[in-house]
Amino acid sequence: MEDKGISKTEVFRQLKEFKKKDMTHRSGKILGSMCTCPHPVGLRAYQMFLESNLGDPGLFKGTKAMEDEVITLLGDLLGKQDIHGHIITGGTEANIMAMRAARNSAKLENPGIKDPEIIVPKSAHFSFKKAADMLCLNIMEAKLDSNYKVDVNSIEEMLSKNTVAVVAVAGTTELGKVDPVEDISNICLENNIYLHVDAAFGGYSIPFLTEIGYEFPKFDFKLKGVCSITIDPHKMGLAPIPTGGILFREKKYLDAMSIETPYLTEDRQSTIVGTRTGASTAATWALMKYLGREGYKKVSNQCMEITKLLYEGIIESGFEMVTEPQLNIVAFKSKDISVDELARRLENLGWAVSKSSYPRAIRVIVMPHIKEKHVKAFIEDLKSLNL
Ligand SMILES: *Cc1c(COP(=O)(O)O)cnc(C)c1O
Repeated sequence: MEDKGISKTEVFRQLKEFKKKDMTHRSGKILGSMCTCPHPVGLRAYQMFLESNLGDPGLFKGTKAMEDEVITLLGDLLGKQDIHGHIITGGTEANIMAMRAARNSAKLENPGIKDPEIIVPKSAHFSFKKAADMLCLNIMEAKLDSNYKVDVNSIEEMLSKNTVAVVAVAGTTELGKVDPVEDISNICLENNIYLHVDAAFGGYSIPFLTEIGYEFPKFDFKLKGVCSITIDPHKMGLAPIPTGGILFREKKYLDAMSIETPYLTEDRQSTIVGTRTGASTAATWALMKYLGREGYKKVSNQCMEITKLLYEGIIESGFEMVTEPQLNIVAFKSKDISVDELARRLENLGWAVSKSSYPRAIRVIVMPHIKEKHVKAFIEDLKSLNL
């Protein structure tokens, strides 16, 4: 750092230079991200609460009341009003919190557990590997079936006296698949094992799409075995980043990981992060109130319509789908060139695509910033590759 500061004008001139190098969602070129343009109402609410710290809720009673209301609204969306949880930074933090709650609860019930294990689908988000590393858990990967959903038998075979949690995914990160959560819930109830559902991506769309008439398996708190759910407002919820949500069926799961806080306005804290922004909560609250179910139904329906358009265009252009889309994610490959080579050629044409690891494919997430015109331009470019 220099001794003397530079002028405000110069600071902002330089900031604009950095910004020029960033991509924008609005350009429609970002095809491989689960983030999107934050909704203007969410942005405004976010800016209003930049000062509030939910790590010290006694000082920000209004923001705390908003968080409580948001958790109830999210619980209502996911099958149970009377719910406990927090608005945090995202799906990663939510999944780490869930695994921590599961491990601690299992150890309270059964202090004999020496080598705690979690069972996650092979399709689970990599955040569970971070959780396993931080919490000293063995991680077991359950097999997938031919549609890339978890194979329930594989989970059952892996259960042991050391299992502290089973994870199911509602909207996998790579392919948008929804696991057969009901069967898994029954198995977990029978064996008295904690079940966490990672609906970071699907949580904000499956309930709305179901109301419109799309068919999905049950995945939420209506299933008695589900102990916690991750849901990310900063994905299909249109909130600015960083905004995640973690919901628990019972308060005892939060208590199982709460730590005494000596000098704050609350006595105990269960979140990983201490100082915690209230802005994310305000944005989530504002968007749920402003858009309502109708607004979110429209958003998720539009994404599905555009997904269909993209799907048909890709097939028409001579490429191969690796699986049928269940949510707004399309994964495809070429018969003639490798996935890496196809990605490279698309990147040369200005598209930021991403690649799925299992199965290897180009993966396009049709987030709300992807409009019909972008899909049409993308299809044109696919055809121009002459594959
Ligand atoms: C995006 C995602 C995560 C991770 O969320 P972050 O907000 O990036 O931390 C976890 N699980 C699933 C299923 C996801 O799609």
